[in-house]
Amino acid sequence: MLSGKTAIVTGGSAGIGKAIAAEFIDQGASVVIASRTKETGKKTANELGCSFVQCDVSSYEAVESLVEQTVDEHGGLDILVNNAGIGITGTVESTTLEDWHKLMEINLNGVVYGTRVAMPHLLESSGNVLNVASVFGLVGGPQAAAYATAKGAVVNFTRTTAVDYAEEGVRVNSICPGFVTTEMTKSGLEDESFYEFVLNQTPINRIAKPEEIAEPAAFLVSEKASYITGVNLPIDGGWTTH
Ligand code: NAP
Repeated sequence: MLSGKTAIVTGGSAGIGKAIAAEFIDQGASVVIASRTKETGKKTANELGCSFVQCDVSSYEAVESLVEQTVDEHGGLDILVNNAGIGITGTVESTTLEDWHKLMEINLNGVVYGTRVAMPHLLESSGNVLNVASVFGLVGGPQAAAYATAKGAVVNFTRTTAVDYAEEGVRVNSICPGFVTTEMTKSGLEDESFYEFVLNQTPINRIAKPEEIAEPAAFLVSEKASYITGVNLPIDGGWTTH
């Protein structure tokens, strides 16, 4: 379904990004994964059979270089998945300003930088952008002041960018996962009361596997979703239904 397509997946070395990269590769795409840690990035790239570019998405120059290298190597770009992200817990008071800015730089500005730099190439290929937001971009949550604020902004950035580029043939969507078993959620879910809270919020009553996020992601970036733009798709076991 994605054969002949070139995709960048930021944060593709682990977790949800790795599962998305694997699914895209399974569906025939050429994938470039990008993350900060060289060792993990190279290891994952070897495992999946794709390229790795070291890139911190909070650096505009690094994102420019990632897109340039991809276009040089593959002759264009069809799909950008803005997945890289970090989690920082805290209320508006307990989150340090340093952490607030760090999270915004990665989880929000990283998405904007990627989209801005990739757009000329996506206009050429009639390609698309998929942002990885969160249920916390759609509803509030405990101890998630910075995280939910950034994800809420990503959700509306998705809508407004979809409007700006729809007529020119570039689609922009996001996925909004509930809780998924990855490094990011590992320590939180080890806390029994937090785990209970998450299950109580999730009618399906379990945590998602990364693959359950990757398959809908692959659908949204494919031609099968050609009339879908500006959507923020919950993949949340029912979290946002109640
Ligand atoms: P993860 O397992 O911690 O993986 C994060 C990935 O992003 C890694 O490849 C990491 O590699 C990379 N990364 C982090 N900061 C980066 C930066 N500044 N520049 C480039 N790459 C960076 O996290 P995950 O759970 O898969 O989360 C992926 C995305 O899904 C995030 O946007 C997260 O907010 C979102 N999400 C996760 C869940 C969940 O339950 N897990 C739920 C909803 C949404 P390096 O550290 O080497 O850079």
